[in-house]
Amino acid sequence: MSQEVKSTCCYCGVGCGVLIRAEGGVITSVRGDPEHPANLGRLCTKGASLHLTAGTANRLVHPALRPARGEPAQGVAWDDALEHASERFAQIIRTHGPDAVAFYISGQLMTEDYYVFNKLAKGLIGTNNVDTNSRLCMSSAVAGYKQTLGADAPPSCYDDIDQAGVILIAGANPAIAHPIVFRRIEDARVANPDLKVIVVDPRRTESAAIADLHLPIKPGSDIALFNGMLHVMIGEGLIDETYIAEHTEGFAEQAAIVAEYTPMRVAELCGIPASDIVRAARWFATRGPALSLYCQGLNQSAHGTHNNAALIQLHLACGQIGKAGAGPFSLTGQPNAMGGREVGGLANLLSAHRDLANPQHRAEVAALWGIPEVPAKPGKAAVDLFKALASGEIKAVWIACTNPAQSLPHQAAVRAGLANAEFVVLQECFADTDTAAYADLLLPATGWGEKHGTVTNSERRITRVQAAVPPTGEARHDWQIVVDFARRLGRKLDHAAVDRLFPYASVEEIFNEHRASTAGRDLDITGLSYALLEQQGPQQWPFPQGATAGRARLYADGRFPTANGRARFVSVQHQATAEQADKTYPLSLLSGRMRDQWHGMSRTGIVPRLFNLEDEPLLQMHPCDMRHRQLEDGDLVRLFNRRGEIVVRVAAGSGLVRGRTWLPMHWGNRFMNGAGANALLGDAVDPWSQQPELKHTTVEVAKSGLE
Ligand code: SF4
Repeated sequence: MSQEVKSTCCYCGVGCGVLIRAEGGVITSVRGDPEHPANLGRLCTKGASLHLTAGTANRLVHPALRPARGEPAQGVAWDDALEHASERFAQIIRTHGPDAVAFYISGQLMTEDYYVFNKLAKGLIGTNNVDTNSRLCMSSAVAGYKQTLGADAPPSCYDDIDQAGVILIAGANPAIAHPIVFRRIEDARVANPDLKVIVVDPRRTESAAIADLHLPIKPGSDIALFNGMLHVMIGEGLIDETYIAEHTEGFAEQAAIVAEYTPMRVAELCGIPASDIVRAARWFATRGPALSLYCQGLNQSAHGTHNNAALIQLHLACGQIGKAGAGPFSLTGQPNAMGGREVGGLANLLSAHRDLANPQHRAEVAALWGIPEVPAKPGKAAVDLFKALASGEIKAVWIACTNPAQSLPHQAAVRAGLANAEFVVLQECFADTDTAAYADLLLPATGWGEKHGTVTNSERRITRVQAAVPPTGEARHDWQIVVDFARRLGRKLDHAAVDRLFPYASVEEIFNEHRASTAGRDLDITGLSYALLEQQGPQQWPFPQGATAGRARLYADGRFPTANGRARFVSVQHQATAEQADKTYPLSLLSGRMRDQWHGMSRTGIVPRLFNLEDEPLLQMHPCDMRHRQLEDGDLVRLFNRRGEIVVRVAAGSGLVRGRTWLPMHWGNRFMNGAGANALLGDAVDPWSQQPELKHTTVEVAKSGLE
């Protein structure tokens, strides 16, 4: 009888627990872990199909080196591959300095993988050029939390869904992107008929379809809406003045700003009825515990940080935080975006929620690692990193577990950067991604079901992940590849401390070092161990030494991790989207997700029962916009703007206001003859988070002439 092994689903930030069954080294089935608090045994269609993605299909199974760009990569031994990589990196660092190399990693790595990548770049090489695809999904949430609450820490938990009196879903479509959270919302509506659900989304999504109130605001007008709601709350005496006075600062300044955001003005800015703005404000402030769930619609914006701040401020104004059923709860996109944030796996962060810009924090990390200093110069965030490859400022990039040639906006510029790089390493589980075509060296990494480590989900819950089967082919664990490379590179650079920096013989040793780095920090997990996680199950942070359980909710005492213990109101004003419709490009293009697909489809695209539901991307348009262009359902159309053109089929979308179109973001070259939505999306970024505006651009649509 085969054993079941505990792991997690590797798709979204809900972080569902799974039980994997394997026979003869092959994964044969998966089911939801009934003991995991995130899902209590449930799985969505993607999670329930995970076993069908295991095995050798589309896997990279041995290291391969490309003799020259455009030529096929040829198999090479691991030793030779890592010697070659370390020699090329060492040569570039010696000639051009440490900032001439960069690492671009992924929210799908284990926390331990993230930790060693960060240490390799910031501790061994001396560059902060290490960023992640989490920059594309969560960095505005990070900056929003830090600006208002003082720390990157979601204060709520999934149990709050059951206890809320009103749930505000903004810029998120959990029915599609976080399905198990959505099922919990549906259950809460059945259990509590008085629960009100408000959905803020420019499109009538599957989540909006069950809402008591849907606010189809103009793209990018979230701040105007939230400021308008605060205007109504103040005017009608619905704010919690005691909470504001005792636990916050900056309210007067923001109150003066929102005085201008009358319902009539906000109705104009947002394109929705004034009465709906008033209703949303009253429900939020008076229906009992108020919980907000939000994601990419707020984050993937050129003003994503202030989108987050404006929403969080509604909670501060009403005292709706730090208690059951309440709080601003950012849903993470990727399975371990949170773990990457914990170890400082972004160009502007350091281990255990420390800031690179803070000299004290740099000194603490240098002391922890036993090195003289951590460089102060900020690293390049994702968009700038690939621009620096194009300009030649960065000459070598090591990409792990992500597919930037498809997933970053303005694909032509990103691909030009990759093509211009002197040396590209791709450490990947999958073969044949769009990025693989640009890689000089391909290194096979273990995949889901083969890995050990820990991940953290949206509610700060850390789960121990166990391997059910051995690595496929010659694949190695991500942390092992990094440690081996680091040792070789360190010796070539005559780094005195390389063996002390990378002493690890097991993934648990890395976890223990990460754990020690959190002592006294807001995410203190010094009380956790692999043994405890295995015996007592997944735990939320903080979990300091001596604790017997993690903390479900933060800030219950009204004290925040700011200098004076008060949360901050940030002065935020409405801003337009980075690009606005004009005569040449009169239509808004919104990007989004499909239920059965994940990211660039490396995994879900190989499972017929997932792929076949919707096997090509459909551009959704308002019927009037289609008639105006003499288009009919199923026509092939050219979708174009100043960055490029793609050809897709069009369909009338019932959930769209006139002037708005919608396209799923999953397709790339591998599944479509031509690039996907990201070929058209722009690379304008938020000034605080550096997160690009992946949710919106402007386009024109015309019949393609193709059949
Ligand atoms: Fe996986 Fe997310 Fe579905 Fe859970 S909700 S099974 S984590 S994709």
